Amino acid sequence: MGQKQHVVVVGAGYAGVTAALRVSRRHQVTLVDPKECFTERIRLHEMAAGRTGPSVALRDLVAGREINTVRATATSIDPGARTVLLDSGTTLTYDRLVYALGSSTDTTRVPGIAEHAYTLEQAQELSARLARGSGTGTGTGTGTRSGTVTVVGGGATGIELAAELAESAGAWHVRLVTGGEPGNGLSAAGRTHVRNSLERLGVRLHSHTRVQAVHRGGLSTDHGELTGDVTVWAAAFTVPPLAAEAGLRVDERGRALVDTAMRSLSHPDVFVVGDAARVTVPGTGELRMACATAMPTGAHAAEAIDALAHGREPKPLRFRYLAQAISLGRHDGLIQPVRTDDSAHRLVITGRPAARINEWINRYTLASLHAERRRPGTYRWAKPLRPAKGAVTPASAAQAQRFP
Ligand SMILES: Cc1cc2nc3c(=O)[nH]c(=O)nc-3n(C[C@H](O)[C@H](O)[C@H](O)COP(=O)(O)OP(=O)(O)OC[C@H]3O[C@@H](n4cnc5c(N)ncnc54)[C@H](O)[C@@H]3O)c2cc1C
Repeated sequence: MGQKQHVVVVGAGYAGVTAALRVSRRHQVTLVDPKECFTERIRLHEMAAGRTGPSVALRDLVAGREINTVRATATSIDPGARTVLLDSGTTLTYDRLVYALGSSTDTTRVPGIAEHAYTLEQAQELSARLARGSGTGTGTGTGTRSGTVTVVGGGATGIELAAELAESAGAWHVRLVTGGEPGNGLSAAGRTHVRNSLERLGVRLHSHTRVQAVHRGGLSTDHGELTGDVTVWAAAFTVPPLAAEAGLRVDERGRALVDTAMRSLSHPDVFVVGDAARVTVPGTGELRMACATAMPTGAHAAEAIDALAHGREPKPLRFRYLAQAISLGRHDGLIQPVRTDDSAHRLVITGRPAARINEWINRYTLASLHAERRRPGTYRWAKPLRPAKGAVTPASAAQAQRFP
C-alpha cells in the first residue's frame, strides 16, 4: 500500500499541475501558485496579438482530486526543515517537495529591458498597447497604426510572436532583431521556411544584430540605432532564484541539477521539474525548456515519489522529442521532426498542415491535463524504442556535469 505522503507542489504551470494531478492518486497534495487561472504559456504570443482563449481556473483544473490549492507565492524553502514559506506568512511542511517554478524572460541581459520593453509575461498589457495604436494616428483601438513594434529574439518564441503580430496587428510594422539567424537549430529547410514566412508576413528581419541597450525610442545595436514605438524582449529565459537560495545544487543558469528520477542531486526529498530543472537524458542529452519537457518530467516525478513511498527505487526517465513545432500565424507553421538526440531531420512539414498540427498540439496539451484530472496516470509521452544505455544516477550526473 505504501505510506501516504504530503506532497507540496510549488508552481502550477504545465509541470506542476501534471505532477500534482498524478501524485494525487495516492497522496495528499498542496498546490501553490499566486495565479487564480492556469496560464497557457504556449499561447502567450496569441494573447499578445489580441486573441484571448478561454482561461481555465486552477481550481477547476484539479477539481475532484485530493489537492488543496493555495493562492500564494513561495518566498523561501528550507530543505533541512522540509518547509516552504509563503508570502502570506504561512509555512507549509512537506514529506516531498515538487519544485515547478518554471522560467520567465530574462530582463537583465542589456540595460533598459525592464524599463522600456514588454515581455510575454505582459502579453495582455502588450495587446492593449498595440490596440491603442502608435500614437501617430487617431489613437483609438481602430485608429491608424503606423508605428513599429520590434521583437527581439530569433528563437521559437520571438519567431512565433513576430509572425502572430504581423498577421494580426493591422498596420503595425513588425521588425525582428536577432543576434544570429532566426531558428538556429532548425534544418536548412526549416530555417528557409521561417525566413520566407516572416518575409511574406511583412516582418523586417535584422539578423546578426546584437542589441546593446533598450531605450524609450527603440534600440541601440552593434549596427546602429533602430527607432521604434514598442519593443518586446523575447530573447532569453531565466529561472527563479529560490532553488539556489535554498542551497540546491544548480547550474550556471540557476536550474536545479537532478537525477533521472527528477530528484535534486543535493536534496533528494526535493523533485525539480519543468523549466526550473536541468535534466539530462541518455541518448537525448540536456532537455530543452519546453512544455514538451515540463509535462513528462512532472508526471515522472509523481511516479518516482510514489515508487519511493512504496519502498521501490524510482525508474529513470525515458523520454525523447519527436518534433519541434513553431507557429507562423494562424495559417502557417513549421513542424521540424527531430532524431532521438533532438537534432533536426532534413525534412519539415510547413504551411496549413503544420498550422493544423500546431493547433492540435496546443489543444492536446490542455486536454491531457483534463484527462489526467479525470484519471491520473492517463498522460503518456514519447519514449525511445530502446532504453538508452548509461542512465544517469545522482553520482554519475554529479561527475558528468561541470560547474562554474
Ligand atoms: C510564447 C511561448 C510559446 C511557447 N510555445 C511552446 C511550444 O509550442 N512547445 C513547447 O514545448 N514549449 C513552448 N513554450 C515553452 C513552455 O511554455 C515552457 O517551457 C513551459 O511553460 C514550462 O512549464 P513549467 O511548468 O516548467 O513552467 P511555467 O509554465 O512557467 O509555470 C510555472 C508556474 O510557477 C508559478 N510560480 C512562479 N514563481 C512562483 C513562486 N515563487 N511561488 C509559487 N508559484 C510560482 C507561476 O505562476 C507559473 O504558474 C513556449 C513559451 C512561450 C513563452
